[in-house]
Amino acid sequence: MELDKSELDEIVKAAEDEVIEYLSELVRIPTFVPPGEHYEEIVDLLIPYLRESGFRCERIVVPEEVVERMKEDVAGLNGKRVNLIATREREGGNKPLLDIYTHLDVVPAGEAWHTHPYTMVRKGDRLYGRGVADSKGSVAALLMALRIMKEQGIACRYNLRVALTTDEEIGMYSGLCYFADNGLLRGKYMLCMDGDNEGICVATNGVMNWEIVVNGKACHSSTPFLGINAIEKAKLVMDALEQLKERVERRESKVPCSPTMTRVTGQKHIKPIFNLTMISGGVKENIIPPSCVLRGDRRYIPEENERDVVHEFETALEPLRSELELEVHCYPGYPPMHTDPEEEWVKEVQTAASAAFGVHKPITGVQGGLDVAYAVQKTGQPVCAFGVGSSMESNAHSANENIRIEDLTNYVKFLVMLLRDM
Ligand SMILES: [Zn+2]
Repeated sequence: MELDKSELDEIVKAAEDEVIEYLSELVRIPTFVPPGEHYEEIVDLLIPYLRESGFRCERIVVPEEVVERMKEDVAGLNGKRVNLIATREREGGNKPLLDIYTHLDVVPAGEAWHTHPYTMVRKGDRLYGRGVADSKGSVAALLMALRIMKEQGIACRYNLRVALTTDEEIGMYSGLCYFADNGLLRGKYMLCMDGDNEGICVATNGVMNWEIVVNGKACHSSTPFLGINAIEKAKLVMDALEQLKERVERRESKVPCSPTMTRVTGQKHIKPIFNLTMISGGVKENIIPPSCVLRGDRRYIPEENERDVVHEFETALEPLRSELELEVHCYPGYPPMHTDPEEEWVKEVQTAASAAFGVHKPITGVQGGLDVAYAVQKTGQPVCAFGVGSSMESNAHSANENIRIEDLTNYVKFLVMLLRDM
């Protein structure tokens, strides 16, 4: 069926209460991780909705031995890691397959909420609850978009595979990584609904955590010449790291950052980042400290690569090794992500998003890392991320997470406009 924008506006307006109700049901299931105990429940809730829209649903449970390995790095994980794949392939046509992805887990509620985090509340033009922005709002919008398309007889131009997964928020081996390693992502393109609505995100930074142990020698503090003060020596390391930081952060990517980021920082492109974020050492006031541990992270732009990043880090510390005993460890995380902005797929997403939201949505990159980057490094799929919430207003990962109702309904329109066969 042909449908113009004002007709779609009206249909979605009429469905507003229902999409809010969908979201409220999703928020009610506390899928926070750790522990991540309620995945099966939320998958069971979603399956009937997706079946009604013609999808074949499979529960994909991450094997026990994979979860055991995750538990070595993350404390407090518990329960089955139940993921969902819903596939709809229409016979007779050779339509391209599109993977639509987001995660079902949320970060723990934390303190300082004005409302109950798992009972969604509507106040004015906003909805409050854990996960409304990151990223259950997009799931609710997808259910509604699929239902509207069915009820209005709007044909879909893609075969669809919806991947709703576990454990994204712990930043390790998520359900999506498992999907990628097991050939479960096969779409020609991917839409990542985990993102903000400010721009079409085609690039993310890669992540590497690091740790430096400065070794000294303990002794009585009244005779410090008998020992080596590891904390005082760590200052030399920090000086070297500061110079490295300066060098690293002078670089920038070709990928623009969001207009909001430009407004706040003046920065026009995404940049690499070097942080010293943790320090520990010392035993007692009157003992010369035998060791001092420094930790931090390095976020690297798509134009950099992991090998060079590690090499640069080690080289910066090399001159100190003649006078200090150092142990240096690098822990690479997600790689960077980069889809060519000239890709047809990116333009389609941008066109649909701009039309649905009624404003031009720019192509952007973000300085954080995403599990999608790991996935598309395996699959080579062009991907872009566009979501419901706002990076500046939604308080994702903190108290009073919220979205504008208008952003939620615009996101429903975005999906219909992106998926419909014209
Ligand atoms: Zn997220």
